[in-house]
Amino acid sequence: MIIEFKMIHILTTPINLISNVDVNFLVPDNLSKEKRSRVMASIRGKNTKPELIIRKLLWSMGKRYRIHDKSVYGTPDISHKTKRVAIFIDGCFWHGCRKCYIQPKTNTVFWKKKIERNHKRRADVKHDLKRKNWKILPFWEHEVYKNPQKVVNEIALWL
Ligand SMILES: [Zn+2]
Repeated sequence: MIIEFKMIHILTTPINLISNVDVNFLVPDNLSKEKRSRVMASIRGKNTKPELIIRKLLWSMGKRYRIHDKSVYGTPDISHKTKRVAIFIDGCFWHGCRKCYIQPKTNTVFWKKKIERNHKRRADVKHDLKRKNWKILPFWEHEVYKNPQKVVNEIALWL
């Protein structure tokens, strides 16, 4: 039951957390190879499904960009250094989206702290990049699922 609950969140969201949780505990080994790699990707918080949707659309529009460029502060999901554009696609669970976030019923303090830390970290990154004259385009995972073209059109104005 606990595993099922955690799986729901992990499958629908990304992250850069779970440092002090045994990841293998969260990923049952009876999954198909593809499903397992999707779960692992979401735990690492990179190449999540909403990210892939946006990248594919941008690419088809002829837009070129870097992904997870570590030389840009905060390692944006998508970025362009010379155009100074940073795009973040935040998971609704991991970043505590007001519309979608559901407080887990177990380990409440642990999750609260994790999400607060993510929130603070994101705010710090935005502040720093803005100061360096970057255009920041943050999106929620739910915005991507609702209308990916709208998200992409907004990004295309800057990229
Ligand atoms: Zn949301």
